[in-house]
Amino acid sequence: MSESTTGRRRRAAAGETAGRAVRHLIVLAVEDEPLNRRLVHAILEPEGYRVADATTLAAARAWLSRERPDLILLDLRLPDGDGLVLARELKADPQRYTIPIIAATASALSPVPEAAVDAGCDGFLIKPIRPADLLAEVARQLRRVRDADNAG
Ligand code: CA
Repeated sequence: MSESTTGRRRRAAAGETAGRAVRHLIVLAVEDEPLNRRLVHAILEPEGYRVADATTLAAARAWLSRERPDLILLDLRLPDGDGLVLARELKADPQRYTIPIIAATASALSPVPEAAVDAGCDGFLIKPIRPADLLAEVARQLRRVRDADNAG
């Protein structure tokens, strides 16, 4: 199947340029619900992102000890604890504090968003996640990091 213009444009937005192989941007999805994981893959992968999964805090820590994502999508309610614990760890780490973290939770009730900000999360999404919101927030966070890199 030939590649559509839309597909090329979308991949360009995700970090690739036509005719030049650029590595895919990697999103680590820390999420224990299989349906939510599938949704995240279904939204991000067609746009050119590569999605890695961790279903627990322990799995996320193990993955992060080996690899570095461009962005972390963080569920706050995980089987082995509060996602904000991981956010605090990463934001206190001089090597990894610049990795953007987008918190996701089913609860829109205060003080969850405030707690996420306090823990250092860069963005926040309410579940059920809407594709347009996820794509916009991911793009916004990655742009912010890129601008900071260029400025520094
Ligand atoms: Ca969960």
